[in-house]
Amino acid sequence: MDADPTGFETLAIHAGQDPDPTTGAVTTPVYLTSTFAQDGVGGTRGGYEYSRSGNPTRAALETCLAALEGGARGFAFASGLASTDTLLRTICAPGDHAVIPGDAYGGTYRLFAKVLDQWGLDYTPVAQQDLDAVRAAIHDHTRVIWCETPTNPLLGITDIAALAELAHDCGALLVVDNTFASPYLQQPLRLGADVVMHSTTKYLGGHSDVVGGGLVVANAELGEQVAFHQNAIGAVAGPMDAWLVLRGIKTLAVRMDRHCDNAEQIVAMLRGHPGVAEVMYPDADEIANRQMRRFGGMVSFRVADGEEKALQVCAGTRLFTLAESLGGVESLIEHPGRMTHASVAGSALEVPGDLVRLSVGIESVTDLIADLQRALG
Ligand SMILES: *Cc1c(COP(=O)(O)O)cnc(C)c1O
Repeated sequence: MDADPTGFETLAIHAGQDPDPTTGAVTTPVYLTSTFAQDGVGGTRGGYEYSRSGNPTRAALETCLAALEGGARGFAFASGLASTDTLLRTICAPGDHAVIPGDAYGGTYRLFAKVLDQWGLDYTPVAQQDLDAVRAAIHDHTRVIWCETPTNPLLGITDIAALAELAHDCGALLVVDNTFASPYLQQPLRLGADVVMHSTTKYLGGHSDVVGGGLVVANAELGEQVAFHQNAIGAVAGPMDAWLVLRGIKTLAVRMDRHCDNAEQIVAMLRGHPGVAEVMYPDADEIANRQMRRFGGMVSFRVADGEEKALQVCAGTRLFTLAESLGGVESLIEHPGRMTHASVAGSALEVPGDLVRLSVGIESVTDLIADLQRALG
C-alpha cells in the first residue's frame, strides 16, 4: 500500500493482505502446507520454516487483527479459549492472582476455575462495574485484570480506561475480551488496555462457519513473549480457519452497522411490547457512549410472564434459530438459564429464568420483528 491508510474499513480489507508476492493473487492464498523448503541449511525464502511457528495465511490474519485493534502485534489461535490459555500462561506464573468478571464467559470461568487454578493461578471473581470492589480484590500477587464488556448475557458495561488505570497502579496488566463489541465498535488498547482477546468464532468470522481465537498486544516486548508461547504451546489457527476469519473480517464494518441498525429497531419494539418486562441494551449507558461507537447486535430481555413464557418464546420463533453462539449473519435466540448459563444455576452468577438472549443478525429487520412479535404473542 502506498500512503498509510488508517480507515477501519480499508484496514479490514487490506492490512496484511497485499497481493501474493509470487503469483499476484488478489485474495490471500490458503497456504495448506506444514513445512517450507529451505535454500541451504537455515536459508528460508520468506521467513517460514514450519506452520506451527508461522504460516503466511495465518500471518495475514495476525497482521490484520493487530491493525484493527491498533496494537503492536496480533496472534491467531485454534479457538478463543486457546488464545486465553496461551496468554495467561505467558503473562502469569504459578502463585500469581487474577481479578476476573463475576459474570465472565462460562468457558473463561471454567478455564480459570478448573484448569489454571490447578496450575497455581489464583483468581477472584468481581462485579467489575464496581471499581471499589475491583480495588479491594487486588493484592500483591495480582498480575492481571481480566475484563469483558459488554457482559454476557446481561450487557453490563465496565469502564475500560478506569480499569486500565487500576491495573497499572498495581503493576498488573489489563486484558479485555472484546468478542461482543468487535474492534469496529470498541478499541480497548486505545483506552489503555494491554491485551485484547477475541473469539474470532463470533463477529470477526461472522458466518458461523469457523472456531478461532485471537490476541492483540499493545507492545512489542509482550508480543515477543506471546510469540514464544504460541509456538511452544502450539494451539495455532490452521490456514483454512485463518482464511475464513480473514474473509469474514473484510465485511466486518458493514455487517456490524447492520447488526446495530437491526438491534436498535428490535430494542425499540421490545421496549414498547406489553409482554416484555425489561430490555438490556447499553445504548443509554454513559460509559458505553464514551467507549463504544455503537452498541452491537446482542440484546437480552426479560419476559413479563415468567420462565415458562420465556421458554415458549425461544421455541416459538422461526427466523431466530434456537442455538448457542453469536455474531453470525443469521439471527439466533437462546434461553441463558437453561442453555449458555445452565452451569451457573444456583450460584451468585445465576441469571433470571425469564431472560431471553438474542444475537440479532443482518436479515430484513421487518421479518425479524414480525418473527419476535409472533413468538411473544
Ligand atoms: C465464545 C466466547 C469465548 C470463547 O471462544 P471460543 O472460540 O468458543 O473458544 C470467549 N469469550 C466470549 C465473550 C465468547 O463469546
